[in-house]
Amino acid sequence: MATLDLVFPPLTGANYPYLSTAVLKAYVQQESRHEVGQLDLNLRYIRHLLTPRAVRERVTTAETTARALERRRLSGGEAFHLQHCLDVAGRGPVVADLLPAALRAVRSAASVNDAAEMAVADTVIAEALSAATVDRPPDQLNLVDPVFAASAADPQGLREALTRDDCPFMAAYDRLVAPGELLGDVVGISVVYRGQVPPALALARWLRLRRPRARILLGGPFFTSHRDRLRHHPWLFDLIDAFVVYEGERPLVSYLDHLDTGEPLDGIPGLIFRRDGDVRQTGMPRPVAARDLPTPDFDGLPLHDYLMPAPVLPLLASRGCYWNCAFCTHHHIYGDSYRVRPVELIGRDLATLAERHGCRHVYFVDESMSPKLLRHISRAIKESGTDLRWGCETRMERSLTREDFRLAHESGCRVLSFGMESANQRVLDLMNKGITVATIERIIGDCAEVGIRVHVMCIIGFPGETEEEAQETIDFTAAHRSSIDLLDFSVFCLNRNSPIERSPETFGVTAIRDLVPGHDFEERLAYEVKAGLDRSRAYDVWERAVASEHFAAIRSRCGHAQRERFLFGDDVPAAVGAGELREAVALGPPRALPVWHDVAELREHSRAFAARRGRALSVDGVAFSESWLLLGSGRRLRPRASPGYLVFRPSSWRDVELSGPLVSLASSLAADRSPAGVAKQLDALLRPAARPPAEGTVRERAADERAAAERAAGEGGRPVC
Ligand code: SF4
Repeated sequence: MATLDLVFPPLTGANYPYLSTAVLKAYVQQESRHEVGQLDLNLRYIRHLLTPRAVRERVTTAETTARALERRRLSGGEAFHLQHCLDVAGRGPVVADLLPAALRAVRSAASVNDAAEMAVADTVIAEALSAATVDRPPDQLNLVDPVFAASAADPQGLREALTRDDCPFMAAYDRLVAPGELLGDVVGISVVYRGQVPPALALARWLRLRRPRARILLGGPFFTSHRDRLRHHPWLFDLIDAFVVYEGERPLVSYLDHLDTGEPLDGIPGLIFRRDGDVRQTGMPRPVAARDLPTPDFDGLPLHDYLMPAPVLPLLASRGCYWNCAFCTHHHIYGDSYRVRPVELIGRDLATLAERHGCRHVYFVDESMSPKLLRHISRAIKESGTDLRWGCETRMERSLTREDFRLAHESGCRVLSFGMESANQRVLDLMNKGITVATIERIIGDCAEVGIRVHVMCIIGFPGETEEEAQETIDFTAAHRSSIDLLDFSVFCLNRNSPIERSPETFGVTAIRDLVPGHDFEERLAYEVKAGLDRSRAYDVWERAVASEHFAAIRSRCGHAQRERFLFGDDVPAAVGAGELREAVALGPPRALPVWHDVAELREHSRAFAARRGRALSVDGVAFSESWLLLGSGRRLRPRASPGYLVFRPSSWRDVELSGPLVSLASSLAADRSPAGVAKQLDALLRPAARPPAEGTVRERAADERAAAERAAGEGGRPVC
């Protein structure tokens, strides 16, 4: 029997395993005797970047590169690269020191309830990932929307990137994939997000070279969305034996069977492959009935290595969506079918996952759970007595009552995500949302009342929306800030195959065209509107929304955008045992990081960098770490005449070198002599440096910061960057 290895490639978030490989593994095992393994290469890749050693190596690279760039006249792109190098060289040592504590924090139930702690942890992790690409501009790694030199949308760019000898992913896979792994007859790569496309194609190339006997399949929503354009890029079929499009269960089993039986591929729906130089596409596979799907099989995945305090497992209670919002493309994968799994089987899934993995935290990743299903699942979980914490996305339907939310909460539901989109009724109607502003208002209040955390997503710039209407949405979220726990604003995108693209005149949309000519894998389209906000003005309003005071207030109350963290909200009383990072960085989360907008600013910064390089950065990493960590290590502080103490101050995202006498003074002022107490006193002593940046230009703000730092130096604190 043919064997199969399923791989989830980099790069996307690592809060929990993605469902695709677990669902496919379970189905293939249920329907056949093929052996199936699975590997979360995304998690493995992220974890290998998130080590202090990896960051420190990048600091050295950043210093060398910055020195070379400083000697040259810089292009715009090089100026940004220099800025990146300076950031990594300047902050990297601190980030490397903080990284172990940051990883402990995001994996501690106590800490994830502490928004300030999470703000520091998320920033440190983001900076550590960003450091990874300091030698390969313009790549920027992050867990939401990574940037690669070769855009996922640009087939030609992807092809060129793959032929480069210095492809970073090839080297990474050599390091991360053991000789005994991915030896199946077939390797199936599951691509869900755009950020996975360049690494996934690099993985296909790696497999071609290192596992030449393997058949390589590529599947998932991304390539399903672009299935009609794959034929224009036949070079892809040098790497990929077949693309699996739409839902992958049936095509995958049939493909494995075909290796044993010789059945022709033309008879297997859901495949795109090349034969005799022709790219062929078979039809849409018949979807599997929801009741015939097995419980996902997460065996083989390191469930305790994800960036959560305990395993959070994703589950689907339904496939597709019963609604049809004007901007949505969910039907592109599932067709028009909406399939709901019987509640008794969902209960069985939950029991099985609890038994196999001790899983107490589940996120239903349905497109949108219907009110009826939400009610039934809540009742079933409550009646089963299962101790579970769960969340899902649902619509703000009028039929959902406070009693429904109370029942959901009693069954363990702790967070609900809502695509609210707008707080203006005319715009909601244009979107075909089928909800009212009055219902939105009531539901937000009901959830807050019963103790369910509310995640609200809004869209700015839907075709026809005026600036005043968009402002109504911003004002609405401000008025309900105390009941909203997570708030996202996004700018409207016109996607291929959305209802708007199919009948643009209905929405006042004209001049639809490719966003970038030649970018065949770009799902977004360029367009114009007959009335309302155009895209550029929509961005202006969006910037206003995310810069608003209430947006920041919600973030600082509830932490960064990680809805799964709310599942741990009542496991441990907030902040008990948390705060290691906050203590280490001496109070509070970082504010804005310094940004240098032009080459002159960069040069000024680089002179400061060069001036201190001989001092702060040439300090041996360990010594730097020890002196800096004094505040967080729990060891008793001792005044030292020289070189003083290096303290990272999140209020200005600066390292400050403190004189021994100042630390001694702070130490004596702190009644309990604890690191937190001393840090608090230091913060008070250095208060002038921590005031908010003044209004004005970047240059004025930079000058203002320098003046504040000099004042602090006069009072005993000497800024070193
Ligand atoms: S409710 Fe969500 S998934 Fe359903 S159509 Fe609307 S946006 Fe799409």
